[in-house]
Amino acid sequence: MDYKTDALLLKTVNIGESDKMATLLTADRGKIGARMKGVRKAGAKLGFASQPFCFAEYVLVGRADRYTVTGAALHEGFFDLRSDLRSLYAAAAIVQVCDALALEEMPSGGLLLAAVEALGAIESDPAGTMPEVVRFLLRAAAFAGYPVSAGDCPSCGKKIEGKRFFDPASGSFYCETCAAGAPASRSTYECIRSLSGMGGGYDADGLIRALRLMKMYLTYQNESVFPALGEYLAMMEAERA
Ligand SMILES: [Zn+2]
Repeated sequence: MDYKTDALLLKTVNIGESDKMATLLTADRGKIGARMKGVRKAGAKLGFASQPFCFAEYVLVGRADRYTVTGAALHEGFFDLRSDLRSLYAAAAIVQVCDALALEEMPSGGLLLAAVEALGAIESDPAGTMPEVVRFLLRAAAFAGYPVSAGDCPSCGKKIEGKRFFDPASGSFYCETCAAGAPASRSTYECIRSLSGMGGGYDADGLIRALRLMKMYLTYQNESVFPALGEYLAMMEAERA
C-alpha cells in the first residue's frame, strides 16, 4: 500500500548502478530509509527529490527498511542554501543533528518542523544563520527529551545573577552558590534565554558561546560527534577571529 508523507531528506548514499538510499525524516514514523530508483540518471523524474535538504511529500511503497520512493511533490527545495557557504554549512549541521536525534518509528513532527523552519530562515537570511542554528539546537534538544533550562536556579530557586554555571547532565544553568557543572558566561546564559523565547537580548559573543555550549551539550547527551556542526562552528569562529 502507498504511504504518503511529508519528509525532509537528511542524507543519501549511492547504491547500485543509478539508485540512492535516502534517509528521510517524517512526522509520524520518524527516520526512515527509502530506496530511490534511477535517480542518478540524467533527467530522472525524481532527481529533485534525492537532493540534499529536499522537503517534499514523498510517496513510498513497501515496509520499514524496504521502502521505495515512487513519487514526490516538492514543498521546498531550499536550493539557495547551496549558493552561500555559510548557509550550506549551517544546513548540513541541522540535517546531521536530525539524523542523530531522530529514531525509527518515533513521531518526530516537532523536530521536522524545527528543521524546516530553520532551513527556511537561513535560506532567506544567509548573514543571520547563527541565531537560527542555536534556536534549532534548543528545539532539537527539547525534542530529544533533554531540554535546556535557562530559568531560575533549579537547586535553590533563586534568580541567577553573578557567576553562572551550566551542568550538561541536567541541561540547566545554576547560580554561583549551587554551582553545578562548569562556569558559563553571562553572555551565554542571556543568549540561550533569549533564543529559548524567554526574552532579553544577546550579543555576538554570547551567540558564538551559545553555539559552542549547545554543541558540547548535544555531544554529551547524545554521545554523537556531529562533525558538520563542528565544521560550522569552526567557520563561525574563524569569521569572528
Ligand atoms: Zn542556586
